[in-house]
Amino acid sequence: MNTAIIVAAGTGTRFGGDTPKQFVALAGRPILTHSIEKFDSCDAVDSIVVVAAKEAIESVRSLVGAAEFAKPVEVVIGGATRAESTQNGLNAVKGSEGIVLVHDAARPLVSVDDIRQVVRAAEEFGAACLAAPLADTVKRVADGEIRETIDRKQLMSAQTPQGFSVDLLKRAFASDLDLATATDECSLVEKLGANVKVVAATSLNMKITTQEDLKIAEAFVADGRDHRPRIGYGTDLHRLEPGGPLKVGGVAIDCDLQAVGHSDGDVLLHAVTDAILGALSEGDIGSHFADSDEKWRGADSRVFIERAVELAADLGFVVGSLDAVIDLERPKIRPFIDEMRQILSELTGLEIGRISIKAKTGEGMGPIGESRALSATATVLLFPSKGQ
Ligand code: MG
Repeated sequence: MNTAIIVAAGTGTRFGGDTPKQFVALAGRPILTHSIEKFDSCDAVDSIVVVAAKEAIESVRSLVGAAEFAKPVEVVIGGATRAESTQNGLNAVKGSEGIVLVHDAARPLVSVDDIRQVVRAAEEFGAACLAAPLADTVKRVADGEIRETIDRKQLMSAQTPQGFSVDLLKRAFASDLDLATATDECSLVEKLGANVKVVAATSLNMKITTQEDLKIAEAFVADGRDHRPRIGYGTDLHRLEPGGPLKVGGVAIDCDLQAVGHSDGDVLLHAVTDAILGALSEGDIGSHFADSDEKWRGADSRVFIERAVELAADLGFVVGSLDAVIDLERPKIRPFIDEMRQILSELTGLEIGRISIKAKTGEGMGPIGESRALSATATVLLFPSKGQ
């Protein structure tokens, strides 16, 4: 049974603002959520304990409740110092078997594989620490002056997670050590004389301390979304009968023909709706707006596109490009094309310059050419919407 204690009890005074650092959004979700997710998705971890400041405990509980993590996540109240908070988290770990990991909530970029390597090293050596080499030359300074240049080959910066056999960490906390000055758990087990294995971090595992850190982390965090555009294709055909007006592209064209249909029979709006639904892999117009449903009898087909665009937005997409062809012998469509483009622009939220509508005749042949029917085809490109 391996448990990860995620310490989120700090007040983040260096970060500024009213929101405690662990609740600040990173790529749209709290930093703490990112950190918990890393341990939740690591196969070497069985359960998670989050240590939260007393005043934030309800916020953390609701965050954990809403996130639906796969593993059990317990929330406990932190203490006045780092060591007290870890101690409270450790008190929630039952027994003395297995490995306990301690992690700073402010390190959301830790890699799942690095977590696994720390667990493996702790299992083998009893204690392990994720650490990174130093890039800067390090100086010992006194009174504002350099006293010594320290060989940085011998130095690494200790990160988290730090992993221990449960028994060892419990012994460290039970021993008579000065917990108030401990800034990490390794230093406690080092004082017991235990060896701590170093695991070199393979990814940027920065601690988010300032607003600048947050900007850097934003550039690195993966948001888990599919950013590939999606293309959709739609067609429609309706019979023509004597009457009028003829609805095409949302325009009621004064004419001696009208489309036969359950709704207003607007082939262009139906084809565009099908293209949007097709790009989303969400069936077709018939599966969303059944022609057996009295609700849609004589319906203005604009509602179909509006619903399809809403569905796209719900799934994280916007219409990015639209190209369509209307096949109709008469009347001439060209005088109405710009009005149709304007209507489609309003319906899709796409600027008019990205909307193309062309018109073809049937050269006097077949159902189109003999004005027994009209049809339309449409292609749309959907882009992932920003900021979701
Ligand atoms: Mg139709």
